[in-house]
Amino acid sequence: MTLYNDSETNSQKNSQKHANHDCIMTLGSHCSLQVLKGAKDEGFQTLLICEEKRVSLYKRFRFIDKLIVVNNFKEILNQGFQKNLIDLYNPIMIPHGTLISSLSMDDIEKFKIPIFGNKWILRWESDRVLKQQLMIESSILPPKQILSKNDIDGLCIVKLHGAAGGKGYFLVSDKKSFEEQAQKLIESNVIISEDQLFIQKYANGVPVYLQFFYSPIENELELLGVDRRYETDIDALGRIPAEFQMSSNLEPSYTVVGNIPIVLRESLLPEAYSMGERFVDAAGKLVPPGMPGPFCIEGVYDNGANFIAFEFSARIVAGTNLYVSGSPYSDLLYDVPMSMGRRIALEIKKAIKSSKLGLVLT
Ligand code: AMP
Repeated sequence: MTLYNDSETNSQKNSQKHANHDCIMTLGSHCSLQVLKGAKDEGFQTLLICEEKRVSLYKRFRFIDKLIVVNNFKEILNQGFQKNLIDLYNPIMIPHGTLISSLSMDDIEKFKIPIFGNKWILRWESDRVLKQQLMIESSILPPKQILSKNDIDGLCIVKLHGAAGGKGYFLVSDKKSFEEQAQKLIESNVIISEDQLFIQKYANGVPVYLQFFYSPIENELELLGVDRRYETDIDALGRIPAEFQMSSNLEPSYTVVGNIPIVLRESLLPEAYSMGERFVDAAGKLVPPGMPGPFCIEGVYDNGANFIAFEFSARIVAGTNLYVSGSPYSDLLYDVPMSMGRRIALEIKKAIKSSKLGLVLT
């Protein structure tokens, strides 16, 4: 473990051991810059766990107080490593997509460093069966799941498990096209068998991601931003004239390369808030302590402006990186630029002040 930006000795730090949580940490990827900038803006110390290959990137940012370098993020599972961090900094960990894709759910649930939000709900995000259950309980009905390849009848999207950012997803219209695509994934060692794939009816519409924050301290839901993903190469196909699309045999894929801001028609906001509230209620029932902190409901608006949700993320999403200086929605709620990262830090601050940290940490 290597420390940068850190002139004090360990014993000095030990003697100043923080009685309270005044340090926010995360893994160096996904939305870490926004999270730590927001933490700094709210007066916290910031700590980043960083892989060697990214040190030069993260050293550029002065709001990162401490950079701890690892060869692989799995090193943070080491009990001694975590104990050291707790002794030295008493940090709060902000989970994001890279934490979920780098570690197993069992590992995250056993984590000793307190995690902001509900770490138990992360399992419900990455397990497609649990995910469907929570969405149905929220009355946010996902497109129909197709249980057997024999039942594929019309356009379907086939997904891998876990937070892979749409990587490896493909479209099929019948059993034959499913088998051909699945075979390619097996041959390239992405999956071992077809059973690892999840088939869902394709929802036709324009993709929209609703970024929420639920505060258990204020018992209030905030819509802080809206975005869509910029995905290769589904978003590249429209640049090729139809005649070449037909002859080139291109398979659309859904690998996220960035995010694009959206503002919704104001008339769509009541239902957006209502979905968010139903989700918070359902999470409270099925996965105590529910949904404190950021989450995202992901779907498409169809040609009747109805929202068809296909996913949720039960933690901060990378699309919030758009709004480091606030969004058209956060600006209506706050007089300072309120990114999602900063909103998290603000909630921790409020929880510390009112001795309610138990409501926001697991
Ligand atoms: P996800 O990782 O599930 O958020 O999905 C990645 C991308 O796949 C999304 O941004 C959508 O473009 C697309 N997608 C996922 N599920 C569906 C669906 N049922 N219908 C249409 N597009 C979908």
